[in-house]
Amino acid sequence: MATALVHFTAAAATDRGRKRPSNEDAFGFSVERGVYVVCDGMGGAAAGEIASSLAVDEVLKRLSHRAADLEAPLAAEQAIEAANEAIFSRSQRNARLNGMGTTLVGLLAEESHVWVINVGDSRCYRLRNLHLEQITLDHSLVEEQVRLGRMTEAEALRSPLRNVITRALGTQSRVTPDIFAMEAEPGDLFLLCSDGLTRELTDAQIESLLGIELPLDELCARLVSAAKKAGGHDNITCTLVRAEG
Ligand code: CA
Repeated sequence: MATALVHFTAAAATDRGRKRPSNEDAFGFSVERGVYVVCDGMGGAAAGEIASSLAVDEVLKRLSHRAADLEAPLAAEQAIEAANEAIFSRSQRNARLNGMGTTLVGLLAEESHVWVINVGDSRCYRLRNLHLEQITLDHSLVEEQVRLGRMTEAEALRSPLRNVITRALGTQSRVTPDIFAMEAEPGDLFLLCSDGLTRELTDAQIESLLGIELPLDELCARLVSAAKKAGGHDNITCTLVRAEG
């Protein structure tokens, strides 16, 4: 089957939200290189900001300058490993930064081939034909219990353990990302976002917001503003990547 010719456009937005004193989320992308990253740091304000920006910088740099003959999934694994090592070694050297870490959700595009990379509970969704689908699986304690059938979605939302994530960058000496491979079709819209968006808005709300035909930066602004209106309890970050025909 011939693959469709596509090119990508993108926009992103981040916001402190209405309750947190600082913004520990970070994002970065290069449309030219086909690399898009969103990170949600943890470990206390300064540490969280350092972890998320280290991860964005390292993964963006590594994937933007990857060798042409290196398979994309392998390049992604190596970039994650390098970012993990950068954060972990920095936290080992400085007691104040001990235990810092970050989630990472990334998208790598080569022609119409797309790889989604995930560690933690930030998410990637794809809107295709006005239908929203979650691509990533949260590495969180409660979502893993839901997937095992031991907890309902409603219980997960109320659980005091809902903030516990089971995989993060920088908290252990090694980490393995999930990597999802797919083919982009013209019109596909990918959303990379931190949980400050998905805790405030249901998938149905995100689906209807993304279904409106608007420039991507305007869609990002609307997502952030809807999450703030719904409470804005956490930092909110979204990156939108559209496959154009
Ligand atoms: Ca968060």
